[in-house]
Amino acid sequence: MSFEKFGLRAELLRAVAAEGYKVPTPIQDRAIPAILKRKDVLAGAQTGTGKTAAFGLPVLQLLDRTRGKGCSPRCLVLAPTRELAAQVHANIESLGRGLSLKSTVVFGGVGINPQIDRLRRGVDIMVATPGRLLDHAGRKTLDLSRVEILVLDEADRMLDMGFIHDIRKVLKLLPKRRQNMLFSATYSTDIKRLADSLLNSPEIIEV
Ligand code: AMP
Repeated sequence: MSFEKFGLRAELLRAVAAEGYKVPTPIQDRAIPAILKRKDVLAGAQTGTGKTAAFGLPVLQLLDRTRGKGCSPRCLVLAPTRELAAQVHANIESLGRGLSLKSTVVFGGVGINPQIDRLRRGVDIMVATPGRLLDHAGRKTLDLSRVEILVLDEADRMLDMGFIHDIRKVLKLLPKRRQNMLFSATYSTDIKRLADSLLNSPEIIEV
C-alpha cells in the first residue's frame, strides 16, 4: 500500500515520491495515522526504520493545517547528538520542501550567534540537542511557549548520555497541553519512567 492512504497533502506526497519512498515502512504505517489523530506515541524503533519520516510527515501535515505565526517553534524535536539532529533536520526539510514551514536545527560545539540569527528569522519546527536548546532558552533567544508537539528521538541514547536533567528542564518550559512522541530502540526502567510521566494514553508501536 502506498502513502496515498494517509490523506497527506499533495505537496508531501510529491516530496515522498522525490525521496524515492514507494511503500511506507512498518513504523510509518502505524505512526502516521496515530499522529495525524493527535495521539501520543511510544515507538520502539532503531535508526534505519524510517522513523524520521514516521513523525516528520504527520507533523508537517498537522502544522501546515493550522498556521502559526512562524516566529517561535510549534514542534520541538530533541535528539542526542549533533549528527542525528542534523540528519533529522535535513530529512524534515526535504519532506517539507513544498510547504512554507520553517525548520531549523541547533546543537552545541559550534558558534551560537549564527543560530540566534536564524531563530530571529522564525521557526516552526525546531530540532535540537538538549544542552544547546537550554542555552538558547536561558538567553531568551528562543520562546518555547508555543510548542504543540514534542518528539524525543533516540530517547534511550539521550538518557545514556546523561541528558535526563536537561530533558526535565526543557519539559518545564513547554505548555502542558501538547502532543508527545517518544522514540527509543530499547526499553529500560528509566525509559519506562520517562514515558509514563510524559505520554497520555499513547499508541504503542513496536517494529
Ligand atoms: P531513519 O530511520 O528515519 O533514519 O531513515 C532511514 C533511511 O530510510 C533514510 O535514508 C530515509 O530517507 C529512508 N526512508 C524512510 N522512509 C522510507 C520509505 N518508506 N521507503 C524507503 N526509504 C525510506
